[in-house]
Amino acid sequence: MISEEELAKLSYPDAPKIVTKIPGPKSQKIIGDVPKYESLARPGGAAPPVFDEGMGATIKDPDGNIFIDMAAGVAVNAVGRRHPKVVQAIEEQLTKLMHAAEAVNTRRAELAKKISSIMPEGLRGNCVSYFTQSGSGAVETAIKFARHVTGRSQIVAFHGAYHGVWCGSGALTTGDRYHYGFGPLIPYVIHVPYAYCYRCCFGLEYPTCDLQCAKYVDYVLNTPYTAADDVAALIVEAQQGEGGYLAPPPEYFKILKKACEKHGALFIADEVQAGAGRSGKMWSIEHSDVVPDMLTWGKGMGGDLPMAGLTFRADFADKLVEASQPGTFAGNALSAVVCMTNIDILTDKNYDLIGRAAQLGKETKARLQEGANNSRIIGDVRGRGLFIGVELVKDKKTKEPIDGSVMRKILSELLNRGVIMVPCGRYGTVLRFMPPLIITKEYLEKATDILLSICKEY
Ligand code: PMP
Repeated sequence: MISEEELAKLSYPDAPKIVTKIPGPKSQKIIGDVPKYESLARPGGAAPPVFDEGMGATIKDPDGNIFIDMAAGVAVNAVGRRHPKVVQAIEEQLTKLMHAAEAVNTRRAELAKKISSIMPEGLRGNCVSYFTQSGSGAVETAIKFARHVTGRSQIVAFHGAYHGVWCGSGALTTGDRYHYGFGPLIPYVIHVPYAYCYRCCFGLEYPTCDLQCAKYVDYVLNTPYTAADDVAALIVEAQQGEGGYLAPPPEYFKILKKACEKHGALFIADEVQAGAGRSGKMWSIEHSDVVPDMLTWGKGMGGDLPMAGLTFRADFADKLVEASQPGTFAGNALSAVVCMTNIDILTDKNYDLIGRAAQLGKETKARLQEGANNSRIIGDVRGRGLFIGVELVKDKKTKEPIDGSVMRKILSELLNRGVIMVPCGRYGTVLRFMPPLIITKEYLEKATDILLSICKEY
């Protein structure tokens, strides 16, 4: 396994290093101008931190502050920012070819083969890919292709799901701010509860619950008069991301897959956030011994350049009409090279980044769980690998979510102490531990300690 010393060279030394108030004067000026020129419909639009430079698991702002990056561009920079192998691959490809929409390009063709070789067993070597530039695009395509190959219309998705924000993917995503004023998004979407064990909507506890939530999905799909009579596909995050970093018990997905098979619906695993090694396996669904019919991927696979896609069973390929889904920028050669380099780094046995994510995740979770015992506001710690959620509450008994104002204070205190963290969850009260997988143990422990010491103050 790669040594901690080698990993340390990938990030700025001595982080966190805070030399001004946050935001500092230069950052303030930039933030002040943002709303004049950029739509704030984009999250994080006019608030600190301002990113000026990035390296590995660290970020510099224009005022010279250096932060430990626990967000990784929202689970994007799996191999860290500007990994030297990625930079080298870009430099080499720059002199050869970048955009090529109208023909096969060498790099895209290589990438399609490589993606096939790293899919979960069952799909591996027996699948084809369609490239997009974003997770939303991959999901949008999944909806269309699932409808086309099954000849059906309805899609089942989950409470708390995030699959993107377009008219199709946005209809699968829950959360009123993604819908309000944008409707109607696509019809024929049925939402069912996800396995949110900390806040079980059936009031049950695992394992005595007997996976009631999964059985409910079977009931919806396979019982008359539930209105689910024409389901093309069920789409599910193998670990729910935006909805709160929820990792269901392994047998959950087996029950869902069986329910799909009974109904004749496809099983789509959305691995846009949970994939690319973050969970301790290449794909989060691999914790469950379930073979998806389709798999969407993005974020960590693209890393420093946009690349996402949909990979699906090879037998569906013949059912799709040739040239029926164009995409001008899809499969850009430069992005393809970066994606392949990311895969090479992630699957490099010497690095063993995925095994390391599993191990570091276990250690970090144990530290956080211990910290939770000494904290009045840490209600739950969960997740797999470096995909950990820390849910903050006002009262551990009632599980009432912590006030938004307190949450904002905690996030700003994290920044003041040099840690970038992004919240998620149904109430916006879950802190996510999703650093680049190349983060050193030292930086991970520092960030964990900073969070725990802040939580102790409440
Ligand atoms: N699916 C999942 C599971 C996601 O987490 C996201 C983004 N948060 C998307 C799809 C959409 O990806 P993008 O932002 O690249 O469109």
